[in-house]
Amino acid sequence: MSILFPDQIAQAKKYCASLTEYKRRLTRVVNIGDTPMGGLHPIRVQSMTTVDTMDTKGSVEQAIRMIDAGCEYVRITAPSMKEAQNLANIKKELRARGYKTPLVADIHFTPNAAEVAARIVEKVRVNPGNYADKKKFATLEYTDSEYEQELERIRIAFSPLVAICKEHGTAMRIGTNHGSLSDRIMSRYGDTPLGMVESALEFVRICEDLHYYDMVISMKSSNTQVMVQAYRLLVQKLDEYGHIPYPLHLGVTEAGEAEDGRIKSAVGIGTLLEDGLGDTVRVSLTEDPEFEMPVGRKLVSRYEHRADHKPIKPVSTLPIDPFEYNKRKSKEIRNFGGQNVPRVVADLSQLENIEYKDLKAIGLHYFELTDKWNMSDLGCDYIYSGQNEISFMLPSGTREILDAAVWMKSPERKTKFPLFPDSSAYFHATEKSEELNLIRITYKDLSDEFYERIRKDSTAVLVIDTNNTHAMAALRRIFFYLMENKVENPVVVLRKFEDMDDESLLLCASTDIGGLLIDGMGDGILLSTELVPRKDKEELLQKAKMLNDTAFGILQAARTRITKTEYISCPSCGRTLFDLQETTAMIRQRTDHLKGVKIGIMGCIVNGPGEMADADFGYVGVGKDKIALYRGKEVVKRAVPAANALDELIDLIKEHGMWIEPQIVNS
Ligand code: SF4
Repeated sequence: MSILFPDQIAQAKKYCASLTEYKRRLTRVVNIGDTPMGGLHPIRVQSMTTVDTMDTKGSVEQAIRMIDAGCEYVRITAPSMKEAQNLANIKKELRARGYKTPLVADIHFTPNAAEVAARIVEKVRVNPGNYADKKKFATLEYTDSEYEQELERIRIAFSPLVAICKEHGTAMRIGTNHGSLSDRIMSRYGDTPLGMVESALEFVRICEDLHYYDMVISMKSSNTQVMVQAYRLLVQKLDEYGHIPYPLHLGVTEAGEAEDGRIKSAVGIGTLLEDGLGDTVRVSLTEDPEFEMPVGRKLVSRYEHRADHKPIKPVSTLPIDPFEYNKRKSKEIRNFGGQNVPRVVADLSQLENIEYKDLKAIGLHYFELTDKWNMSDLGCDYIYSGQNEISFMLPSGTREILDAAVWMKSPERKTKFPLFPDSSAYFHATEKSEELNLIRITYKDLSDEFYERIRKDSTAVLVIDTNNTHAMAALRRIFFYLMENKVENPVVVLRKFEDMDDESLLLCASTDIGGLLIDGMGDGILLSTELVPRKDKEELLQKAKMLNDTAFGILQAARTRITKTEYISCPSCGRTLFDLQETTAMIRQRTDHLKGVKIGIMGCIVNGPGEMADADFGYVGVGKDKIALYRGKEVVKRAVPAANALDELIDLIKEHGMWIEPQIVNS
C-alpha cells in the first residue's frame, strides 16, 4: 500500500485512507437489529416516515412502501412520550406483517421520549445540539468552569439513555445538524464544521466513558461545503483523539425536491463516498420517502466495484485544505478563471443544422419578430458545436467553440474559439486564437514540457477528461499536478457518460464534478454528449437541456455560482404541520425568479428554525393553518393564517429589498 499523505500533513489533514485509490474507510460494525452497519457491510440506504407517528396504520403502511423500495432502516419521529410509546405498536404491526427492518426513533429535545423509545426500537437518533439544551440564539460567554459545568449537566441528562441503550442492545446515532448547534458550542466554536464535530464529540466522550460504543455519527448541513468539511474533520478528529472509527451516516439536510434536491444530495453525499467515507446514506427530498430509496441506491451502487479502477499515482503533496473552501488560483483568460464564476459549456456537437429555436433548450431564447435574444438565468456561456458550425449570430454573452480543424476554416475565427483534441495538436497547430484556445487533456498529456509551455500561455484553457472509473479522484489528481507545477490556466471539467437514465446521469455528474468544486477546483463544466447514442433531434435537444440545467444545478449546489432561488425545504416527518410538497410548489411558483435568495420551508417550529440554517427567509409551520415567517433566524410574524402566508412572505422579501418583479417572456 502506498503512503498517501506526506508525513508533515499525515495527522493534520488526513481524513481518508487514500485520495487516489478507492478504499472504504474501515469502521466499527454496529449491530442494528439484524442489519449491521459499518465494517465490510454494504453501504445502507435509509429514510424517515412522514406521517404522524400516532397514526399507527399510516406509519406502518408508509414504512412498508419504503422497505419495499429498498429502505434498510426506517426512522420515525418521536417528539414526545406518547409517540415514543406508539413505536411499540408500529413495530408490532410491522413484525406481524413479516417486516423485520430495524426502526430508528428520531429525538429532539425530549430525553424522556428517547428513554422510552430506546427500549422499543433498534436505534435512537439524538441531536447533540438540542438533546438537553433549549436553543436561545443568545450569544453567551462561558468561562472554562461554566463550560465544564454545562458538560456535566449534559452528562447527567444523557447518561440514563446510554445505560438503557447498553442494557437493550440499542444502537445510537449522534446526529449533529449545522443549523441546531447548542449555544454552548456556538459560543466557543461558532457556526463552523469544527463546532459541529465538537458537538458530536461531547456526546461520544460521554458514551465511551460509560463503555458504550454502538454509535453512528452524522454531520448534516444544507450547505454542501460545510457538510463535506464537517465529515472530513470528524474523521480526522476521531483518529487524532484515538476514538474508535464509528460508522458515518451521510446526508445533506433539507436538500429540496426534484432535480435540485437530487443534485445537492449527490454533491454532498457523493463527494464523501468518493473518498471511501460513509456507511449509510439518507437522501432528504421533499417528496414521499419511498422516492428517496432509488436515489440513495444509485449513489451507493457506484462503489460496489470501484476498487477495481485503474491505478492513479498517489499524491506526494496535498495542495488543498480539505477542511476549508479555497478556490484554486487561476489566471483570467477571456471570462474563464480569475474571479469569474465557473462557466457552463453546453454541448450541441451532435446536432446538425443548429437553428435559432434549438438554443431555447440551453437557455437562449430568440424572438424573430424583434430580432432580439433573451438569456434565461440558465443560459449557457459557451456552445460547443464540434463540427456543426452555427450559421447565425449568437447573443453577445454566448460564444461558440468549434473543433480546431473546423475553426481553422471558419471565416468567424475572431469571434469563435477552437477546441484542440490534445496538447500535441495544440502545440503543433499552425493557427491559434489570439484570445482563447481550449485544449482537451488527460493524464497522458502531462509532462514537464507541457507544464512549461502552458504556464506561459495566456490563451490556453484546459479541458480535463479521464476514462478512469474512479473519475473524481483521477481528475482531482490532474488538478494536483497542475497546482504542484504552478500551472494557473483555467480548467474546464469534462465528463461524459454512457447512455443511462437521466436521474443516474445527473447523480453521477453531480458527484464527479461537485466533488471537485467543493474543494475550489474547476473554472467551467462541459457535460459531453459524445457517448450518448445518436438520437433524433428532439431527443438530443432534451438531453442538451437536461445537461445544461444539471451543470447550473451542480454549480449552485456546490455554492460556486448562484443562478436560482435556493429552497431549503425539510423532507417532512410526523411533526409536519402542512403539506410540504404542495406548499413548496406554491412558494416556488411565485419566487423562483429571485436569484440567490434562500428560502427555508419547514414543517414545524420544533426543528424548523434551527434546520434552515442560513436561509434569508423562513416559512415555518407553528400550528394548524398557522405559519411563522422568519427573516434569517429571527421570527418576524408569529401566527399568520396559512391562506395569507405566501403573500406576507413576499411582502417581507419586498421590505428587505430582495424582491424583483418576474420578467414575462413571451415565446
Ligand atoms: S423541520 Fe420538518 S423534518 Fe424536521 S422535524 Fe420539523 S417537520 Fe420534521
